[in-house]
Amino acid sequence: MRASNLALVLRAIAEAGPITRAQLATATGLTKSSISGQVTDLVAAGLVEETDAPPSRDRGRPGTMLSLHRQGAAGLGLEVNVDYLAALVVDLGGTVRYRHVVTRDNRGRPAAEVLAELVRLAEAAVAAAAEQDLVLAGACLAVPGATDGSTIVRAPNLDWAAVPVELPLPATAYGLSIENEANLAALGELWFGTATPRDFVHVSGEIGIGAGIVVGGELFRGAHARAGELGHVILDPDGPSCSCGGRGCLERLAGLDAILLAAGVASRVELEQRCEAGDLRALDAVAEAGRLVGVALASVTNLLDPDAVVLGGVFAALAPWLQPAVAESLAAHAAKPELLVSSLGPDAAVRGAAGAVVQRVIDDPATYVGSRD
Ligand SMILES: [Zn+2]
Repeated sequence: MRASNLALVLRAIAEAGPITRAQLATATGLTKSSISGQVTDLVAAGLVEETDAPPSRDRGRPGTMLSLHRQGAAGLGLEVNVDYLAALVVDLGGTVRYRHVVTRDNRGRPAAEVLAELVRLAEAAVAAAAEQDLVLAGACLAVPGATDGSTIVRAPNLDWAAVPVELPLPATAYGLSIENEANLAALGELWFGTATPRDFVHVSGEIGIGAGIVVGGELFRGAHARAGELGHVILDPDGPSCSCGGRGCLERLAGLDAILLAAGVASRVELEQRCEAGDLRALDAVAEAGRLVGVALASVTNLLDPDAVVLGGVFAALAPWLQPAVAESLAAHAAKPELLVSSLGPDAAVRGAAGAVVQRVIDDPATYVGSRD
């Protein structure tokens, strides 16, 4: 009861703050004395801060306003992807306080070696958070594959299977969780994106292609947590074989590797430079990928009826040349969701990972408060 009231009060402050104790009582339906006790605990744990209300002619003395403490708890987001590693810290107010991304081709590297490099990134992030007087409440790792919470079950584009993840990080209130990067990218978009609707599909275009499905402001995971495998939607049953064991999957035809091969370039940076310079082969390669992504998304739209489709990851960076082809393809298949470009781009998943920790603090502050005793 007490734990759920604590969450009720913190959520109200997160949604409506700065807010007075009297307004909190109205918003939560709790008594003023109950509010007073919860607020004392939240302030003592460093989750909420008190500030003076601005002077007002109607009031005799200035009241005290309550808001989330931006120098208190923070979330550590980590990401292992096919061609980069990332670490990012977000405070309770959602502001990015630290970010470090390392470009690295992780294909063919042993998982232990990649995870050891990730730990060095995480240690630098932990030190940076401490320097800013932030208290890490937990960590969340984004991976390009399926997870069961503590193990990377399968990450075909890294050629990893059954990789247990135990990172030697400092003890935190919530510890480490592991989640699929496409899901976290969708949540990143939901929490930190600009004007993102409550029903949308976020497409993470990388070497693989994943999607996160958000329905009514909640992530849709499916019966076996495998929903959103957009990259393995089959466009050509006789097409090239895929790491999933199937053939002609979208990511084999329109993932970054396929685009680079068709464009005759070695890197994403070079691809963007060629597109900017008007190189026809590069522009055709991106447009063809856009056409195929549009075909797959037309089916997705017909199944799910989202308000919007958000192009993320590499697809956000390539949007000037990719988006028109996606839009044309969607229209040709009579699907008309709003077509948006992620404002977070390749950071969406690691932002979502850090945000997932912050969300955990808001949903379950009692565990954090207990860890500070
Ligand atoms: Zn496949």
